[in-house]
Amino acid sequence: MQASATGGAGAISPKVEISDVSLRYFGREGEIEALRGVSLTIAPGEFVAIIGQSGCGKSTLLSLISGILKPTSGTILLDGRPVTGPNRKVGYMLQQDYLFEWRTILENAVLGAEIQGANMTKARERARMLLTRYGLGQFLHYLPRQLSGGMRQRVALARTLCTDPDIVLLDEPFAALDSQTRIALADEVAEILRREGKTAILVTHDIGEAISMAERIIVLSRRPGQVKSNHPIRFATPDSRRPTPFTARNAPEFNKYFNTLWQELEVHVEG
Ligand code: ADP
Ligand code: MG
Repeated sequence: MQASATGGAGAISPKVEISDVSLRYFGREGEIEALRGVSLTIAPGEFVAIIGQSGCGKSTLLSLISGILKPTSGTILLDGRPVTGPNRKVGYMLQQDYLFEWRTILENAVLGAEIQGANMTKARERARMLLTRYGLGQFLHYLPRQLSGGMRQRVALARTLCTDPDIVLLDEPFAALDSQTRIALADEVAEILRREGKTAILVTHDIGEAISMAERIIVLSRRPGQVKSNHPIRFATPDSRRPTPFTARNAPEFNKYFNTLWQELEVHVEG
């Protein structure tokens, strides 16, 4: 298992290239080293999961890729260009849906486009199309509080994809949902992102979610987060197509990967 996390796509130039990135937070309690010497590359259209224990720097890594944070040292390239700040190519979906309760579903879905100063007629059209595709066509003029948790996360997904980003960052997007909804929505989201050819980076502490959704899993060590290992996830299917996340959970490979990753994460109950 190599520690430099490089995608399988040899000659193709990477979508995301993170080189020797470190990040220190300077706060009231002093200095916190969140990430140390992280290097990884992600190919266009790849679906990668980053797993690691709570506090190991997963969200920090996504904030760096999105340009919200700047690395203390090291570089991040998107399509070969350095990240200098927030970028239209990048969409961000969070654990909390952060829907505005006073805005309708449709108006929530166009929020990102509005912030980017995009053409709002087009944005509304696209949001309506996405929401309809995600089964929310009947609810365009509802308020968020009238929707279930799973539906709200679909609105958040529509908002993320409304600006048509190439790279989608998902920060524990299902963590607040009950387990059935979580698995069903993971299936939908994985399928949508694959169909649209997005490059996706899913951060989670849920090993099963990572195995069932991603083509490759990168394990971060405890803080300061460093790349500990890099696991391509493959399933033997008759037609060599990737199983849906739900089907993947029942595949024989699933338990094998689960056991390996469980050991790597050094999961134990804090006393
Ligand atoms: P994860 O998402 O893996 O749980 P984070 O990236 O949120 O981890 O945080 C990594 C470490 O950095 C944690 O110890 C956290 O407490 C610390 N941290 C995160 N954000 C800040 C901040 N703004 N200021 C100071 N420390 C922070
Ligand atoms: Mg986090």
